[in-house]
Amino acid sequence: MTEYVGKSVFEGIAIGRLKIVKHDEAAASVEKGTPAEEKQKFYAAREKAVAALNALYDQALSSVGEAEAEIFSMHAMMTEDGDLEDAVLAKIDAGESAAQAAEEAGFELSQTFIRIDDEYMKARAVDVIDVSKRLSGYILGKEEQAIELKEPCILASSDFTPSDVVKLDKSKVLGFVTTFGSDNSHTAILARTLALPSVVNIRDSIDLPFDAKMCIVDGFTGKVLVDPDPKTLSEYEEKKKETDAARARRQALIGRKSETEDGREIHIYCNIGGAEDVKAVLANDGEGVGLFRSEFLYLENDDYPSEQMQYEEYSRAAKMLGGKLLVIRTMDIGADKQASYFHLPHEENPAMGLRSVRICFKKPDIMYTQLRAIYRASADGNVAAMVPMIIGVNEVRWVRKVAEKVRADLAKEGIAFNAGMQIGIMIETPAAAIIADELAKEADFFSIGSNDLTQYTLAADRQNQELADIIDTHHKAVLRLISYAADCAHKEGKWIGVCGELARDLGLTEFFVACGIDELSVSPPYVLPLREKICSLSANKADKDTFIK
Ligand code: PEP
Ligand code: MG
Repeated sequence: MTEYVGKSVFEGIAIGRLKIVKHDEAAASVEKGTPAEEKQKFYAAREKAVAALNALYDQALSSVGEAEAEIFSMHAMMTEDGDLEDAVLAKIDAGESAAQAAEEAGFELSQTFIRIDDEYMKARAVDVIDVSKRLSGYILGKEEQAIELKEPCILASSDFTPSDVVKLDKSKVLGFVTTFGSDNSHTAILARTLALPSVVNIRDSIDLPFDAKMCIVDGFTGKVLVDPDPKTLSEYEEKKKETDAARARRQALIGRKSETEDGREIHIYCNIGGAEDVKAVLANDGEGVGLFRSEFLYLENDDYPSEQMQYEEYSRAAKMLGGKLLVIRTMDIGADKQASYFHLPHEENPAMGLRSVRICFKKPDIMYTQLRAIYRASADGNVAAMVPMIIGVNEVRWVRKVAEKVRADLAKEGIAFNAGMQIGIMIETPAAAIIADELAKEADFFSIGSNDLTQYTLAADRQNQELADIIDTHHKAVLRLISYAADCAHKEGKWIGVCGELARDLGLTEFFVACGIDELSVSPPYVLPLREKICSLSANKADKDTFIK
């Protein structure tokens, strides 16, 4: 038995024969011509890659619809991206073959994304790698092949590209295992959509001799066991029966309210990084979106996204959600999410520096443009705006002033919007929590950003892995702040949610119920487990003192 450990992207157990999918060989050993010849190869391959992507777009459009198909037009754009081209040409000039240059340039570009502490951005890294691998494949004259599956099996590979995924016979896949890839890679997204226990980023490649061997994917621990001994196999078969039954129970909660046994309803919304993610929200029966991290639009572009570009993205999400609430957070650039065109000064402590709304105080146009886009989208669905990193009452008043100007301008221009759109704030600094009584008079709602609230309250850098096992995520100081903010919100008749990672911590659900939290916003896969937990609790019996005293 050989064991690998990676990151689970969907809980559950899969047991079946392994099918190892090898992608093209590395480009290193290829013979190369003169730099001029290599550049010519690159441009010829780029043209073919774009044509193939356009064909895949058409294929996906007719088989899975526009939303799924868009990935291929995005990849076509990335293939023709000027930064990638410059990097490839420079490497060819430095003596590399076109294929090697394409792979390396893609890898290097991907590292910029990987360094960002966010699963969504890490997934964009995989996109860059996909694009550069496709390019190097075409340079080497290799055609893209569909993966043939004869029987249901567990698929293992370095990673699966969107083009692999669109061509797969999905009824024959039991689970995925990948060497690379993040929680938001295409493999991970597909695994969750199809509810397949899967593990990504095992950092080792599974050797070809293991092809067709029995394999267990433990989507709870992230373990992958190849060629298990009979005892392990039978233990896992037992566990699989239990977990499949638990999943069936949770699936039965689809369409049900998230309410305690004594009738207190808590809305379960989802956190998303773009309109595309709304599909997962709906598939998991999320009741709305409690946090749309709009900064990804800024991070994905080389310049400030225009009002129109933002409007289209927000509007698309709002329309996909039907009448369900969409809370769009104004951009949270800064700290770990840097976009070069903001030209932010170098900071010793960026998490405590010029970040999110603070940038807007210096460049109000950013807030004005974004609020215009959000207000315009408010005509297309149930939209609210939310401002992060607030520390004072004057800040909220400033945002409201900008909003007032936006409304006046839109009205003058005859553009539709919802004049009553809610404007809420995040409570993610200790300052905001401590003056929550005053802020509750200014904001339409609160949402607790527990990731930052924990970081700033406990003086514990959220990016520092060394602290992960030292810092108590249920620290009383943080929970007392949450409890106080909830009381303040309710005193003013405002609603309060939690959108940081604590929202999905089932060990805290009773605490949130006891505080009267109205809404919990989590990644889509956590909706049903959280609903199950809420349904098992009694609001009258929920006791917050055990958490904060
Ligand atoms: C938070 O701080 O808890 C939050 C939800 O915002 P982000 O993680 O994007 O900083
Ligand atoms: Mg935050």
